[in-house]
Amino acid sequence: MQSPHYTGRSTLLFERVSAQYNTRVTTKVQPKIVSRGGLAWIECPLLARHRWLIHAFSTRRGEPGHGPSADLNLGFTSGETYARIRKNRQIFFRRVGAEHLALASLRQVHSARVYQVKRSEDGELEFRLGGNALPGLTQPEGDALLTDQPGILLSVKTADCLPVLLVDPKRRVVAAVHAGWRGALARIVEKAVGEMRRLYGSDPRTLLAALGPSIRACCYEVGQEVEEVFQGCFPQADQFFCKVAESPAAHANRGPLSVLTMLPPGHGPAAKASLHLDLLAVVQDQLRAAGLAPHNVATADFCTACRPDLFYSYRREGSATGRMLAVIGIRPRKPVKVPGPEKA
Ligand SMILES: [Zn+2]
Repeated sequence: MQSPHYTGRSTLLFERVSAQYNTRVTTKVQPKIVSRGGLAWIECPLLARHRWLIHAFSTRRGEPGHGPSADLNLGFTSGETYARIRKNRQIFFRRVGAEHLALASLRQVHSARVYQVKRSEDGELEFRLGGNALPGLTQPEGDALLTDQPGILLSVKTADCLPVLLVDPKRRVVAAVHAGWRGALARIVEKAVGEMRRLYGSDPRTLLAALGPSIRACCYEVGQEVEEVFQGCFPQADQFFCKVAESPAAHANRGPLSVLTMLPPGHGPAAKASLHLDLLAVVQDQLRAAGLAPHNVATADFCTACRPDLFYSYRREGSATGRMLAVIGIRPRKPVKVPGPEKA
């Protein structure tokens, strides 16, 4: 069922956003869909050329012939059994070559909390926040993970929010970031880059970023209050919002029939304009501000709300929709069995 906020795609806005987008992103190497055994995911060539890396953005296309697993929900959402999601995850991890990595995940809360993940002496995953170890926590609340250790698969779940994968090819550091509008407002992407500099001495000019599918400005209608909070935090906030006139067809469908109001065509109430947030622009702006070179930033050109054939969308389908996973890790030198709460 559509959310009451869902307004559908606006061709006019889409063209405008596409034009902006083309000037923002200079790399020609765009992420692309990869399919194996029917299961589809998105890979970024900018990252794939580094053979020591494993990365993927999942889609909802699972393996045909696997019953319910043909629809590749990877989140423990309501109405799904734990066993089915575990199975879906196993299938996905095996396909992308990550089955031997230990999965690190978060309880995502739209924050700006960035955790460093390490393996402790007893082999368990250990989450560190601001340099402090947090023993006993297996899935802390936060929205970004980073590590320089092989054998750990960092993950974030999304269904409209923007997943961002970061790589330092020189120091061999990776990060996974979950950026919704609240996280972006709290500058989570800049903070993740800042933590890579602080903890590992990363040089932002050489960092690579892959931005996955997310709800784009064509479909992301927001309230005035969202624009106001952005204006309070970003002097350039005007660039992140646009007003979109409803399409004539949608307007005609919503308004009373002119034959009933006895008004001639074109004399009804004015078409409503809605406010849309360009979350992608916010995140790209933060990557630029953090010092990343535009040619090192690649963006998957997909709107999750426009493509129900490929993606889950919270805005389009509501909170019970499935979740995609964005994952990144450093390939272990040899397959290792790692103890931990959840194996990849
Ligand atoms: Zn869209």
